[in-house]
Order: sequence, then C-alpha cells, then structure tokens
Amino acid sequence: MPMDHPYLLTPGPLTTAASVKQAMLKDWGSWDGEFRAMTRQLRDGILQVLEPGLDTGSQDYECIPMQGSGTFVVEAMLGTILPEDSHCLVLINGAYGQRMAQTLDRIGRAHTDLNKGDYLPPRGSEVATLLDQHPHITHVLAVHCETSSGILNPLQEIADAVHAAGRRLLIDSMSAFGALPTDPNSLRFDALVSSANKCIEGVPGFGFALIKKDVLQGCEGRCHSLSLDLYDQWKVMESSGQWRYTPPTHVVAACLEALRLHQAEGGSPARLQRYSRNRDALVTGMRQLGFETLLDGDWLSPIIVTFLQPKHANYRFDRFYELLKNRGFIIYPGKLTVVDSFRVGCIGQMTEDTLRDVVTAVSETLGIMDVDSGEPSQAALDERSTAMRDGQATELM
Ligand SMILES: *Cc1c(COP(=O)(O)O)cnc(C)c1O
Repeated sequence: MPMDHPYLLTPGPLTTAASVKQAMLKDWGSWDGEFRAMTRQLRDGILQVLEPGLDTGSQDYECIPMQGSGTFVVEAMLGTILPEDSHCLVLINGAYGQRMAQTLDRIGRAHTDLNKGDYLPPRGSEVATLLDQHPHITHVLAVHCETSSGILNPLQEIADAVHAAGRRLLIDSMSAFGALPTDPNSLRFDALVSSANKCIEGVPGFGFALIKKDVLQGCEGRCHSLSLDLYDQWKVMESSGQWRYTPPTHVVAACLEALRLHQAEGGSPARLQRYSRNRDALVTGMRQLGFETLLDGDWLSPIIVTFLQPKHANYRFDRFYELLKNRGFIIYPGKLTVVDSFRVGCIGQMTEDTLRDVVTAVSETLGIMDVDSGEPSQAALDERSTAMRDGQATELM
C-alpha cells in the first residue's frame, strides 16, 4: 500500500478493498428504480450474513438500515423498541456500554447498570442472578465486542441467561457482526445493530438493525425521534423501496461490493479465522518486543487489541503515532478509564503479513525513539490486578 494511503488499524473506518472504493465512482438518484433495487439487495445481503442460505422472506428478522454512524442506529434501536414503562439492565465494561446507558437517560427510559470496569466481561451467571433478584427488568442490553478495550463478551451465555429468565435481549454487535457468531437459532435476541464500516468492511455512512418481525410489528409510534424511528423507516422501505430522507447512495453501493467480498471469502467463519490470525501475528510479535496486552485468553478479541503504554521515559504516544504513520500504519489511542494504552485493530482488508509488518514498524519506531522495550510500568500492571480483583463483584449502579 502506498504511504499516502496508510492502513487504518482503527476500526472503523478501516482499510477497505480497492473494489469497494471503486464501487462508489457513479452517482445514483435516490428515487430511481436502480437504487431502490440496490436497497433491497442490501437488506437481503445483510440478512444472508445473519442466516446464510435462508430463502428471502422466510427469515424471522427484518433488516432496516439507518443513515448515520453506528451510534445513530443504537439510539434508533433503543428508541424504537423500548416501551415507556420498560426497565433495562445495561451490561457495561467500557465506553460503548456506557453510551447505551447515557442514551437511555436522554430518551427517558429506566435502567440499572452492571458495570464491570475495563477488564472483565459480564458473565451469564451474574445476569441470571440479577434478573432473578429484579423482576421489574424487562430488557437486557449487551455489547458484543467492547471495542474500547477489546473485550470479547460471552454473548452466548448472556443470551441463554436472558432467555431462561423470560426477558428480552438487545445487542450492540457493531464491531462483531460479520465475523463473530450471531446465529439466531442458538443466540436468542430481539434486535441486533451493526454498521457498514466494521466487519462487513464497507465505508462509513449507515448502520442497520436486525429486528425480530413480531417485535417490530408492535413498535409503531414508540420512538422519541422522527428521523431515528426504525418502524417508520421499515414501513416506508417496504411500501416504496426508498429510504425516508436522503440515503447515503455511494455508501450503499460500496457496501454491496463489500458484502460480495464477504461471501466470496467464505462468510463470517472465514472472516473470523483471518481476523484471528491477524490478532495472533500482532500479539505474538508485540509480546516479543516487551509489550503487554490489557487482556488475556478468551476475552482477547480478534477485532482490536489494547496494549499497555511502555514505561520507558522516552516513550510519547504522539511521536509513536507519527512515526508509525510515516511507515504506513495508523493506530488508535487508548480509550480506557484508568491506565494509559493504545489500540491496534485486526479487522479490514489485511492479512497476518500486514500485521507482521506492523510489528516490524513498531520495532523500528521504538529504535528511533530510543526505547529499548515495550514493557509497561509496574504501576499499570498493579492497577490491572487490582481492577480485575475488584471487578469480580457483581455490583449494580
Ligand atoms: C463503532 C462502535 C459503535 C458506534 O460508533 P460510531 O462512532 O457511532 O460509529 C458502537 N458500539 C460499538 C461496540 C462500536 O465498536
């Protein structure tokens, strides 16, 4: 990749295929029949990612795209589905769980939060206990992969606990859908949201909700917002084939090509394997340079990895960032509440060879900065141990 087109290790936006970018080199009329057919193809293509091979129309879910970034469709899902007298249990272990709680405050829906801090996942057994103790909770909100830390949350056991307790599950699967398993035959949920620019590997501009048909039927007139009403968006798409309000036409065209590549690669299972190989190449190489990951084992997602900041006095994130950018790689600053860190994404159009090149570039960069190792400070490691111990408790807020 030429240096003026650095790899984006920042999901997302992320690095897309050349053919995805080329798919945008045309203008489409939003009202035109050709674009209406593209919208239908988009919705069907996303349903195929959810349940590969199922005949169009036989699915239990509807796919409703919504203009805007991922956060817009999260808010649209919450506003459209949650009745005024609902009470949510929000499972939080990072910025995106927190954002859902904040959204509920804005739209005036009651909630109770289980906050696990930056390092630990909410477990199915905790969810089961809380639902048992709090019969007034109607819905559970879960983040699939918490992109702020890189924790892969145990969604299956959470879904099992919610289902066993007869409650309803809404999922932010923004950075997981299209790679990690979301088969509704084993994972029971009412709605899931994701966006064009994460594991689908399209460009940013819209998100989409997958909502159970019988749930969606009951949502008329519920949404606090006109533009974010997924029920109205669905009704208009069904009757006219059009989006309400201007659609991101080029982004839809790019996403159709991205969906074609997704299928050609072998669908979500193949994508998960590639991302896992990317993560393994990255983590192995970085550990050889002395770096420590925030997380270990099962929770270390194949989507994005958080590394603790090196303790060396010469290390500066801004310089590290610029030097890596000069070598063709754009990384992400950390997004943790306590310790300093940085993040490297594993998703997008790249392979394990790309991630090996990232490690080489990091090694060269440390050399230029005169930092002999990526080793973090003892204080950061201590803070992590303390947080992991404290986080074991099931505390409500
Ligand atoms: C990317 C992402 C979002 C949405 O973020 P936007 O910046 O609005 O696109 C929401 N939740 C998770 C888990 C994400 O990774």
